[in-house]
Amino acid sequence: MKLNAFLVKYAEIGIKGKNRHIFEDALVSQIRNAIEPIADFQIRKEPGRIFLEAKEDYDYDEVVEALQKVFGIVGICPVLIEPNFEWDNLVQTTIKYVEEQYENKNFTFKVSARRSNKGYEKDSMEIGRDMGGELLDKFPELSVDVHNPEVDLKIEIRSKAYIYSKTIKGAGGLPVGTNGKAMLLLSGGIDSPVAGYMIAKRGVKIDATYFHAPPYTSERAKQKVVDLAKLVSKYSGKINLNVVNFTDIQLAIYEKCPHEQLTIIMRRYMMKIAEQLAEKSNCQALVTGESIGQVASQTIYSLGVTNEVCNLPVFRPCIGMDKQEIVDISEQINTYETSIQPFEDCCTIFVAKHPVTKPTLKSIQRSEEKLADVIDGLMEEALNTVETIVIR
Ligand code: ATP
Ligand code: MG
Repeated sequence: MKLNAFLVKYAEIGIKGKNRHIFEDALVSQIRNAIEPIADFQIRKEPGRIFLEAKEDYDYDEVVEALQKVFGIVGICPVLIEPNFEWDNLVQTTIKYVEEQYENKNFTFKVSARRSNKGYEKDSMEIGRDMGGELLDKFPELSVDVHNPEVDLKIEIRSKAYIYSKTIKGAGGLPVGTNGKAMLLLSGGIDSPVAGYMIAKRGVKIDATYFHAPPYTSERAKQKVVDLAKLVSKYSGKINLNVVNFTDIQLAIYEKCPHEQLTIIMRRYMMKIAEQLAEKSNCQALVTGESIGQVASQTIYSLGVTNEVCNLPVFRPCIGMDKQEIVDISEQINTYETSIQPFEDCCTIFVAKHPVTKPTLKSIQRSEEKLADVIDGLMEEALNTVETIVIR
């Protein structure tokens, strides 16, 4: 017996007052995006929840896995829909449901019945009581506990009968698309994919920018970033990934600026370029994977100097996290294995032996003056040659 529907529960979005329908519509649309490529379901909104009903056979695990990546969902209940709810048949179906769903019948339960179909032969009380009795007769190992049951078996009689009792945990958060859009600076490391995931989880749509430095960084390094964007997009939905050719800017900085300041200056130009791309694609913020103190370029002083070039707010969801905490999330969202592939990135090649940890804005700006006659042209060139890859 295959469960032929899902009931989707959401929490946070239920409390948004008159914006509620916006959140619900966004959630339905995100569910549709996640499900449509893999299965044919009818999706419909009902007060406080969303129903998905299979129109044809589908891969249960695949659908559950896809739903677990949709932000805004707190719980996914697999449902058995029985169109023939004439009492004797409903009893047989419910027995079969319990039989198959619970291998070990040694649990406490109650039956919670609801009847929106007022013409039904029994009222809610009777359905609950009588079905409970039928189940006890069939499975003597069961026992009833109406206050604190291990299994709360729901039976709802509408135009069909709905039977369900299990809830699979959802991803939480808010549906993507309900909180604007941000530009993620996506490197091949562990942190930035996690940062993108965390921002998307709060309902923010994301695009991404990767700074590529061929031939110092290889095609494989770029492919790794594409792969990471793909993994993040399973949660965030479509990502436009901008690949910026950063080689000439990096070489100019390397040639003209003090080496202990390389990373900071490079970061500042990354931020400037990312901000221009962000504005072009209507983003309201930038996102990075930075975390205080992780490396020299992420001391509170370095972050301050980097931040100074941006007008848009820069969100750093990993800012207060230890590396291990970031790793834990990357494992959970399945980006870790890709992130640790050993392809060089542009920061590792042009890195100084003794980078500054307490840069001052003045000293960095003074060094940047040495780029004055070339940098505008190089920035323009970098912006004009951006390659945009659509990641789904
Ligand atoms: P890890 O610390 O695991 O290497 P990371 O590459 O994300 O991860 P850093 O190299 O410390 O971390 O860079 C800090 C942040 O700057 C990144 O999280 C990312 O947002 C941004 N960044 C760094 N290099 C690039 C790049 N080549 N392209 C785009 N963004 C980058
Ligand atoms: Mg990092």
